[in-house]
Amino acid sequence: MKIFTTRQEVAQYFTHKTGKTVGFVPTMGALHNGHISLIKQAQQVCNEVVCSIFVNPTQFNDPKDLEKYPRPIAADIAMLEQAGCDILFNPSVSEIYDDNEKWHLDIGRLEHLLEGEFRPGHYQGVMQVVNKLFNIVKPDMAFFGQKDYQQFMVISKMVNLMQMPVKLIMCPIERETDGLAMSSRNIHLTADDRQHALILSKALSWVKANFNTESIPALQQHAKNMINAEPGIGLEYFEIADGDTLLPANADTKKNVALVAARAGKTRLIDNMLII
Ligand code: AMP
Repeated sequence: MKIFTTRQEVAQYFTHKTGKTVGFVPTMGALHNGHISLIKQAQQVCNEVVCSIFVNPTQFNDPKDLEKYPRPIAADIAMLEQAGCDILFNPSVSEIYDDNEKWHLDIGRLEHLLEGEFRPGHYQGVMQVVNKLFNIVKPDMAFFGQKDYQQFMVISKMVNLMQMPVKLIMCPIERETDGLAMSSRNIHLTADDRQHALILSKALSWVKANFNTESIPALQQHAKNMINAEPGIGLEYFEIADGDTLLPANADTKKNVALVAARAGKTRLIDNMLII
């Protein structure tokens, strides 16, 4: 695997590579099988796969979260080598940002719903970095996880508004065998937190299993009650939404998605499930 740390190196590498389909998997590192599943999916349809590892400061609204974000770069490189990834782009913060750079793109309500309400500014930071990374790597296709469902919608909106020539692919959520959605933040969970955190996927599965027998408000209330009854879990939101707009679903909604965010001890977790 080639490892590049500068924009220049990436640009130079791709100068003579015409006619190849480039797949891109942007990450913040601390890789797990969820990330690797994106690499594998990219390898199925692209000639060359680029993964980036960059802990993007502009998308963190909590400085403590940024500071304690795991950065096991040697283990990450080993996982990418093992997966057969072609290129790792691992830039420093100063390679990506000048001091006091400004960014804003109006994407309407999507920015402020759900995650946006609890993490103000987060999606502006996500768009800012993904826009830069797309301009550097110039991928034909980019692969993102359903795990960050709203993020996928935000990036799709940006790509449409800015008419960027990249195809976005959403890949399924990888879970541990007990249902916990894989996440780089799971490393911070104590054994107790981890046990309690299972209530999130249980509540989502319950909603999916009972979707045709209960009303949406009843499903939502039941799921919230399940989570609130679990010790050590602080629910932020549980919402059944329209999968195309993320506005609250109603009985006529065709594509429903249930989304949840909660704290397990000190660790903030998100998860979701499509109900189609
Ligand atoms: P992150 O490193 O958390 O920014 O995630 C990088 C990419 O991996 C994003 O597109 C995530 O949605 C995706 N991802 C994270 N967790 C999972 C998972 N459990 N299954 C599939 N994709 C995931």
